Amino acid sequence: MSEQKIPYKIYLSENEIPKQWYNLRADMKIKPAPLLNPGTGKPLTAEEMSGIFCEELVQQELDNDTPFVDIPQEIQDFYKMYRPAPLVRAYCLEKALGTPAKIYYKFEGNNTSGSHKLNSAIAQAYYAKKQGLKGVTTETGAGQWGTALSMACAYLGLDCKVYMVKVSYEQKPFRREVMRTYGADVTPSPSTTTEVGKRILAEHPGTTGSLGCAISEAVEVAVTNPGYRYVLGSVLNQVLLHQSIIGLETKTALDKYNITPDVIIGCAGGGSNLGGLIAPFMGEKLRGEKDYRIIAVEPASCPSFTRGKFAYDFCDTGMICPLAKMYTLGSSFIPSANHAGGLRFHGMSSTLSQLYHDGYMEATSVEQTSVFEAAEQFARTEGILPAPESSHAIRVAIDEALKCKETGEEKTILFGLTGTGYFDLVAYQKFNDGEMTDYIPTDEDLKAGFEALPKVPGQD
Ligand SMILES: *Cc1c(COP(=O)(O)O)cnc(C)c1O
Repeated sequence: MSEQKIPYKIYLSENEIPKQWYNLRADMKIKPAPLLNPGTGKPLTAEEMSGIFCEELVQQELDNDTPFVDIPQEIQDFYKMYRPAPLVRAYCLEKALGTPAKIYYKFEGNNTSGSHKLNSAIAQAYYAKKQGLKGVTTETGAGQWGTALSMACAYLGLDCKVYMVKVSYEQKPFRREVMRTYGADVTPSPSTTTEVGKRILAEHPGTTGSLGCAISEAVEVAVTNPGYRYVLGSVLNQVLLHQSIIGLETKTALDKYNITPDVIIGCAGGGSNLGGLIAPFMGEKLRGEKDYRIIAVEPASCPSFTRGKFAYDFCDTGMICPLAKMYTLGSSFIPSANHAGGLRFHGMSSTLSQLYHDGYMEATSVEQTSVFEAAEQFARTEGILPAPESSHAIRVAIDEALKCKETGEEKTILFGLTGTGYFDLVAYQKFNDGEMTDYIPTDEDLKAGFEALPKVPGQD
């Protein structure tokens, strides 16, 4: 097919939206390590998990073998409101860069929550509803996950309690109002509404909170209130499963024009968008059918993959959550205060951690001023104001395209544009005012987090 025939946007019809999610773990020879009960050090059983999570989601969390999972009709119907997400050929960016590379991005920002998180929010809310629960609790950092979950709960008539990292609660009042408009109850974290919140406040007076801390509070509320369960917007296997819709749609669209990406790039916070985008491609790679270069991009100020340890760790600061084996900076790690670009979780998906450990993907870290430079260039050429998180992927996509300019290679680059940046204007303001700075933690900074890693038998 000749170049010109590839449209700016490759849309799928409603019928082409995938009807099954793909479970990447089914094709992994070395499976991700199981979650452990921090009390016993033994793998968490389905029964133990079902006190925290919805039953069906527990099954999905533990299922390392079923490759395809039917998407319930109700979720398919919800997806139709905002999917399929467009796959865009970045002709304008290519031209501005003067690169022979072909750049594509999958845009997940076409819904009110402004990111891919709605793909899993609706699934998790659906299973909670199906189980007859009253509501769900969660944490939110920048606010995208809380917003997505609020939307899903409003749609299904579920109660939604969101613990929002205090600094974001104060800096992003508009996000908070969107959640409240969708009926969610939003509490700044740490708060005095939970025991763990009170403990953290006593230990760290004046703290502006962290994701790990908000997780502790949300879990406590879920396990102490009958009819409630906790839901998490990233990191978990089940979330990667739901997010596989991103990659499956992308692959269907690319296949229509016989396009094969050489490089696939995604930003990585807890790993859900990246895990979703790469899922079908990684599946081919694991089965030995095709090869792709896959790159995870993280902030230099929160470098879980590139400088973290592959070890069992808590997912939360309060150390009440199960232990996950992952690349981690330690559950006490909090990125420096000048970090504005999201992706601030201390750990990483166990599935992606295992794949990275086994050499199936690469990781790189980038500094935030260079991320915002890429965001600005992208906004000015492609028209979309990108989320700072997404802009990590843009940075590396641009860098790869510029390398192609030097070598003359016509590589096909695919990246995930996970969301829009309309609620990140305080960060953009800093950048525009020239007040944005970079901070790369020293080895000394990281040491404290590593020293506090839990001791788990069989680990060094
Ligand atoms: C939450 C979020 C991310 C990072 O989370 P992952 O689980 O790593 O995908 C990236 N981009 C946007 C827009 C987000 O809201």
